[in-house]
Amino acid sequence: MLQPIDHALRHRADGQILSMRTIHKRPQGYALSVTLTAEERRIRRRYLLRREARNKRCVARHEAAHCVVMSQYGLGYQAWVEAKDGSNRWTGMQRSIGRYQPNRFQNAVVAWAGSIVDYLSGWPLDEWRKVSPVPFESVAIEKVNWWEEYGPELTRSGHVECDLYSIVRTRQKWRALKLSWEIVVSRRVEIAGMAAILMKRESVDAVV
Ligand SMILES: [Zn+2]
Repeated sequence: MLQPIDHALRHRADGQILSMRTIHKRPQGYALSVTLTAEERRIRRRYLLRREARNKRCVARHEAAHCVVMSQYGLGYQAWVEAKDGSNRWTGMQRSIGRYQPNRFQNAVVAWAGSIVDYLSGWPLDEWRKVSPVPFESVAIEKVNWWEEYGPELTRSGHVECDLYSIVRTRQKWRALKLSWEIVVSRRVEIAGMAAILMKRESVDAVV
């Protein structure tokens, strides 16, 4: 059986927290075995399916969090998730649609919600209210500092990381973070509900 042995935050090179994941202990010699028994194959298949579902759920929650914050501002939104070419890894996108455009501050609040929810997904939904934002904030400060130093170079070379780009465009990044955290925690049930729809239909939208 695969036993969970640890939990780890997955970071991108720029320090962005992508997801909280569980590390599983694999059966001894598993990776090197030439012929797998039927039981091993079944375990492996189940493990891969579970890993894919977890990855898809993380991506869906991330996008749903952006959308719920957009709806807080009365903005229309559109989000979708899709499997990356030829793999079982998922990726997602969202944007505001409709007549109203968010201002810089609102954009930053929307942008923060993605990584806040990635972080909070390490806890069950009903415990989110009790989670301290302090550890997240210290990682966030490093991430934003990193982006402010290297972001312009990356932007010039075409690698724009949308969430960070929106965050650093307002001077009120930290006020935006605190507000975003509050919205995410108080509307967590809606976020989880929208993520469930995103996982099933692979797109959501609301026009205002
Ligand atoms: Zn995002």
